[in-house]
Amino acid sequence: MLRLRRLRQHPVLRDLIRETELNIKDLVHPLFIKGKNGVKNPIHSMPGHYQIPLNGLKQEITELLDLGLSSVILFGVPSNKDSLGSESLHDQGIIQEAIGEIRKISNDLLIISDCCLCEYTDHGHCGVLKKHNGQLDVDNDQTLEILVKQAVSHAKAGTNVIAPSGMMDGMVKALRKGLDDEGFQHIPILSYSVKYQSSLYGPFRFAAEGAPQHGDRSTHQMDPANALEALREVQLDVEEGADMLMVKPAHSYLDVIYRVKQAYPEVPLGAYHTSGEFSMIKAAAEKGWVDEKKAVLEIVTGIRRAGADFIITYFAKDIAKWKS
Ligand SMILES: [Zn+2]
Repeated sequence: MLRLRRLRQHPVLRDLIRETELNIKDLVHPLFIKGKNGVKNPIHSMPGHYQIPLNGLKQEITELLDLGLSSVILFGVPSNKDSLGSESLHDQGIIQEAIGEIRKISNDLLIISDCCLCEYTDHGHCGVLKKHNGQLDVDNDQTLEILVKQAVSHAKAGTNVIAPSGMMDGMVKALRKGLDDEGFQHIPILSYSVKYQSSLYGPFRFAAEGAPQHGDRSTHQMDPANALEALREVQLDVEEGADMLMVKPAHSYLDVIYRVKQAYPEVPLGAYHTSGEFSMIKAAAEKGWVDEKKAVLEIVTGIRRAGADFIITYFAKDIAKWKS
C-alpha cells in the first residue's frame, strides 16, 4: 500500500522534500514617505507601519538591511495636490528626494518606485479626469503622457525598477518608449498587469492618502469576478515589453496568480499582498483568534506556491525576524 504518511514522519525528511521555500530575498517591503523632517507617523489601520519623513529614512533603511531585506517599493505622500498630480513630476518631489536619500544610504537596496497619480491628485484618481458620457472618468492617453514624465523623473533620481500601477491601456508601451528615449533602456518595468477593483486597499489609502474623493476605479481596474480577462491584460503587457508582471491582491486571487504563471512561466511574477489582507490577519491576531506567525507564514507561502516569484508584503519585516 502506498502510504504518503511515511514521508511525514521525520521533521528533517519533511524539510528535505518541501516543495516551496519562503526566502526573505523574495520579499519586498512597502515604504510610505511623507515630509522632509519630523517624526514617523503611525498608520493606525496598519500596526507597525508608518509614514516616514525623509530624515527618518536612514534609520528605516538600516533596520531593513540589518534584517536581511533587500527590496523596497516606495509610495509618496506629497505636500501639495492638484488635479493633474503635478508634484509627482518634480525633481524635488517626495519620491525623487526619497530615492536620492536611499541611494546615499545604500547602493545595494533595490528600489522599486510606484508610478501612478492617485497619491498626487486632489480628486484621488489615478489619472487626469475628463467628462465622458456626462460622467467624470480618467482620460487614458493624457494620463499616459504624465506617467511617462513621472517615470523618467524617478529614473533620473536613481530608481532601479518602475512599477506602474494605474491599469491604463498602453501604459507599458508608453513607459518603455519614454524611458528608452531618455537613455533609461536598463530600467525594467514591473507592471501591475492584473489589478482588481478591490475592497482590500482600504488601509493603504489611509497610508498613502490617495482615496478617491468621489466614484471608484471600476473603469480601469479589473472586475473581481473575472480571471480570463486577466490573461488578456497580461498578454498585452508582455507584448508591450513588461519585464515583470504583478497580480494584486494576492491572497484572495491565488487562482489568478496560478493561471498567469501557467500561461507565462518565463516572465517573473510578483504578487501584492495588500494592506487589507495584512490588516485582517493583524486584527484577528490581536483578538487571539489566529496565531499571527503561523497564519502569515502559511498564507505567504501559499502565495509563493500559487506561482508568485516574489511578494510585496507588509509582513516582510515580521517574516525576516521570524526566519532569523
Ligand atoms: Zn493609482
